[in-house]
Amino acid sequence: MSNKIIDIHAHLANIKIYPDYWINGVMNNIYKALNGKEDADKIVKALIKTTLNDFDCKKLIKSMDNSGIDKTVIVMADFGYGVKDMEFSLRDIYDEHRKSIAEYKDRLIVFAGCDPRRGKEGYELFENGINEYDFKGLKLYPPCGFELDDKELFPLYEICNKYELPILVHTGKSLESMKSNFKFPQSLKNVAKQYKDCKFILGHGAIQEYDVCYELPLMFDNIFLELSGFQNYISDKETEKKIRFMCENYSDKILFGTDWPMFASQKKAVEMIYSMNYITEDEREKILYKNARHLLG
Ligand SMILES: [Zn+2]
Repeated sequence: MSNKIIDIHAHLANIKIYPDYWINGVMNNIYKALNGKEDADKIVKALIKTTLNDFDCKKLIKSMDNSGIDKTVIVMADFGYGVKDMEFSLRDIYDEHRKSIAEYKDRLIVFAGCDPRRGKEGYELFENGINEYDFKGLKLYPPCGFELDDKELFPLYEICNKYELPILVHTGKSLESMKSNFKFPQSLKNVAKQYKDCKFILGHGAIQEYDVCYELPLMFDNIFLELSGFQNYISDKETEKKIRFMCENYSDKILFGTDWPMFASQKKAVEMIYSMNYITEDEREKILYKNARHLLG
């Protein structure tokens, strides 16, 4: 196993940075998946408690060491815009991320979130995060209630364009209570054309949302697809076809991501990539680290 691997999509496993509505929504989804199992309520609560308690990133680093992962990108979504009962402000969440990575500067990278409706205050916080906190990209989560071509986003794209920062965009489903119909991918096409130095990474775009996303890297030099969520589809024959298509058409635009700690093991995800006997060694290296290294600069 290579120890150069880069996981482009993970999160802090710290319950303090998530609003209650988000935790409840995640708990509901697991609850449903357990399908009326006895003690489901207890199981879900215990799972959340034991998963989201990595307050100093020691668990994450251990998981990376066990998986041959050299660097992990922690993507921070801004789930809190307009939420009244949040203990942490966005500034607190930025500080929490800064503190978390301080000890592991050579291993952990942050893409910071900012809901465009925060306006000037949000733009300044984001730019300050780049300059002062050493954050290296933007994370956008449209299900919070915006479109990728909303004009309130343009100042954030300008900042990313100026510093040549990557932008990781969530694609596909989210919690039932969140926005679910989008102008995507047209909204993305509108801005990818305009902001050529912004590199857009489509989270879950490589397998889960492949049908909507697969053409985009062919049409735009600055659009990339990320694999997280593939773990659920690995035994599916379609997955092999999708990966072959991407490797043959744009092997330098597929990125490895796990979505850790959202009930995804980094080690298993790496093993799954190694178990794909239908990709070449060269393609595997590109997916696991070469493409990400290039993109992160
Ligand atoms: Zn995620």
